[in-house]
Amino acid sequence: MTGRHLLMIPGPIELEPDVLAALATKTRSHLDPEFVDVLGRALGRVREVLLAPSCQPFVVPGSGTLAMELAANTVIERGDAALVIDTGFFSARMATMLERIGARVTRVSAPLGRAPDLAEVERALAGGGFRAITITHVDTSTGVRAPVRELAALARAHDVLSVVDGVCSAGAEELRQDAWDVDIVLTASQKALGAPPGLAVLAMSKRAIEHARARRTARPGREVPSLYLDALEWLPIMQAYEARSPAYFATPAVNLVQALDVSLGQLIAEGMDARVARHQRIARALRAGLATLELEIVADEAVASSTITAVRYPSGVDVGLIAAVRDEGVVLAAGLHPAIKTTSFRIGHMGAISPSDLLATLGAIERGLARRGGRVDLGAGVAAAQRALAIA
Ligand code: PMP
Repeated sequence: MTGRHLLMIPGPIELEPDVLAALATKTRSHLDPEFVDVLGRALGRVREVLLAPSCQPFVVPGSGTLAMELAANTVIERGDAALVIDTGFFSARMATMLERIGARVTRVSAPLGRAPDLAEVERALAGGGFRAITITHVDTSTGVRAPVRELAALARAHDVLSVVDGVCSAGAEELRQDAWDVDIVLTASQKALGAPPGLAVLAMSKRAIEHARARRTARPGREVPSLYLDALEWLPIMQAYEARSPAYFATPAVNLVQALDVSLGQLIAEGMDARVARHQRIARALRAGLATLELEIVADEAVASSTITAVRYPSGVDVGLIAAVRDEGVVLAAGLHPAIKTTSFRIGHMGAISPSDLLATLGAIERGLARRGGRVDLGAGVAAAQRALAIA
């Protein structure tokens, strides 16, 4: 059974066969007309997937953390004030990055499992002086979805640049960069974009790019200290490829870009609204199954994401459950948020996931619980999920 494990972690995820096949094609020169076409098309597809036709897409070798640093360095420089909406592990990581750049960071923290309080954010913004606000759309450590539309509107009203970490949301949750006037959406290839790990993907508004340009001309010598993390170095390269002409700054990850292009094409063929609805249907059915098994979900129902669910272990069960579920054929993730690291586990459910994958996962969790001595009514969770799927 090696190799037959179902990967249900919050990235990397199960990949479609055509995406995997694109990885195994010839590695062309990054200046080859065929590759120029692939990267150019992939960039256009990023605009479509993020609903960001007016924004500038970037596809850069690196992980989501690199995407976070590229975004942070584009909007923030030493001495700036930044407001971090703190909903968990990855918001905290963003705060650390901003502090390393030399920003003065203020946090508005949401209670574990809950969305941030908009009134508190409004009060903080009204205090004035912030250059940028950062929002983690879905925090992968809690499964909480933040209200990006409302938060971005508040930022705009106070003339503050907005940065949205969409690593665990883009391609699965509703995210409308242009309509919601978000300045930077950043994500990575290995989650709901449905490609292997290794690519940082971003889209930046004209306002964000203008900000970066103005800073460079206004304060020579205070450019982004890292060349790789300076979006202005990548900008002409991305523009050239999208116009179907080759350019070089740093070698693109040719085969990963080929895979990303195929995957983004699949997302667009499914349709973003249909994709969001499919993820919601599966996530709702999962929560119905978990509730029937009397497993407590970390995120409040109203803000529970469609991509990842953090679940508390029932009494008498610990991290050994993950190994037991793996023995039953399904790979889950351990806890990540410091407050619930050893008392929770996480299920990723994004990308190519089907209702059958969900039922297989719930079945494996039930058997894992039984093996680990947990109280479980075998089949009850699966049946509840079946009912939820059948009516939705
Ligand atoms: N932000 C969020 C919300 C994430 O879930 C992750 C990865 N789990 C990251 C940032 C960092 O991405 P990476 O691990 O690809 O560096």
